[in-house]
Amino acid sequence: MNDETDTSEARSAAAADRVRSLVERGAVADAIREGEEAAAALSGRGRALVLGALGVAYGTAGRDKDYLRAAVEASELFQAAGDTAGSGDSRGGVANALRLAGDNAAAIEMLERVEAMAREASDTMRIARALRSIGVASSQLGRHQHGLACLQEALDLMQQAGYADELLTTRLSLLNAHNRQLALDAEGRATDRAQAERLLEAWRELADEAAAAGRVRLELMARGNHAITLQPLSRWREAIAELEPLLPRYLAHGMKPNAALTHVELGRCHARLGAHEAARHHYACGVEMLRDGSPHNDLIEAWSGLSDAHERLGDPAAALAALREVRRLEAKRSDEAARQALAQRELRIELARLTSRWAREATLDPLTGLANRRALEHWLATHWPEAERGRPLLLLLLDLDHFKRVNDDFGHDTGDAVLREIAGLLRSHCRSADLAVRYGGEEFLLAMAGADRPAAETVAERLRATIAAHDWPRVADRLAVTASVGLADAAEVLDAAALLTLADRRLYAAKYGGRNRVVVRD
Ligand code: GH3
Ligand code: MG
Ligand code: MG
Repeated sequence: MNDETDTSEARSAAAADRVRSLVERGAVADAIREGEEAAAALSGRGRALVLGALGVAYGTAGRDKDYLRAAVEASELFQAAGDTAGSGDSRGGVANALRLAGDNAAAIEMLERVEAMAREASDTMRIARALRSIGVASSQLGRHQHGLACLQEALDLMQQAGYADELLTTRLSLLNAHNRQLALDAEGRATDRAQAERLLEAWRELADEAAAAGRVRLELMARGNHAITLQPLSRWREAIAELEPLLPRYLAHGMKPNAALTHVELGRCHARLGAHEAARHHYACGVEMLRDGSPHNDLIEAWSGLSDAHERLGDPAAALAALREVRRLEAKRSDEAARQALAQRELRIELARLTSRWAREATLDPLTGLANRRALEHWLATHWPEAERGRPLLLLLLDLDHFKRVNDDFGHDTGDAVLREIAGLLRSHCRSADLAVRYGGEEFLLAMAGADRPAAETVAERLRATIAAHDWPRVADRLAVTASVGLADAAEVLDAAALLTLADRRLYAAKYGGRNRVVVRD
């Protein structure tokens, strides 16, 4: 590399850093303006560097489609420059844009490719980052066990490799996933108090460590979550004592959304203690800070809490007005949900247009020829209405046991050969009404329509036994392969997303139970 390219690289990197720091300081409009100007004057890898940062700025501004375009272009530019790591990072940006648009399923698909690229390059940091994002997205999709496992693995990898920087944020993601998984009763109390206590302890530790490391925003988030986790334990007074001092600190650090949410939390805690005057004050502050945003749950809770407080304080007119606001926002929220679904489709179509080379639109998995995740989504959408009318619909979610060892001991090509064999075995257990899916790297799924539960349980067990008894030494000397299976029955859940959550939980129960087994009930 000559001096000239050296300086231009340095200039691009500096411009990218500047865009990032503007975003960090909350000056998003400036970041976008400067990023666009810098990108316009650049080409090749330098442009890719700036586009990466610019994409994040777009994402922060809620401009998902621009984020997507910037990330896709950056990825192609990096690729053309032979920078695979940069290309993988940009694909991570694409996944992030999809996730921001609420399309976690498409995001995970992209991230698994990023993970595979990083594994191929034995790039531990990037494997860990991909796993963290997969973990967050899976957890948000309700696949709690899978999400937790990915996040834990990301954390272990970072710890082993000594990546102190991202360790704390990954712990935050892991604890958030634990909070999401915390089971609550109808009154919002934790059904497993010991679990909630452990979480509290973990949040406090994280907050203290973040404070010691000078990571103030992270510390504040951890403290906020600590206070939030006190609530399922009905420790309202302590929660109030912790939330109050956070308000000015959030505002001082440009964390207005957190401050708004804190007001809503304070409103809820005071209301639970019967302090309706204080509850009214905080709900009103929450409404004030959130009202310009989208009609999400926090704003609706704030209006609804406000209505309740007005009523209890003897102001029925104000209570009624607040209640009308709740109704209006609820209607708006369902419009927004429909709009978001449209926006997601639009984004997927845009992505397909931009990345036809990545061949992500296909419904077949190229390695095994099985249906992919997208095909499953379509299958579920088509078959769910019948399931609601009582036709049996069951899923078998299957994950190969210790597959990493197969790759490590026998090589990646043998790993691929195993995956193809498994696909063949799965196909042979598949009737015409079923769908055999490669769900992820070494995860498979059999979606069964019309077969009743005992039949599905038999198939699950037969499939497990067939895999364990298969002639694996034919593929590689001394090779042995087993799989764990979780079964979920549509009759047990309310929607298709919950069906996957259930299958995931039972799959992990099979893992914890010792692997090479089928779990069909809790
Ligand atoms: P467990 O029993 O807990 O499932 O252990 P595991 O080793 O299977 O754990 P995990 O699910 O974390 O590992 C999955 C491995 O699958 C990681 C990755 O290297 C490998 N893998 C994913 N996709 C492919 C692929 O397309 N080809 C090959 N050869 N390996 C893959
Ligand atoms: Mg797996
Ligand atoms: Mg596995």
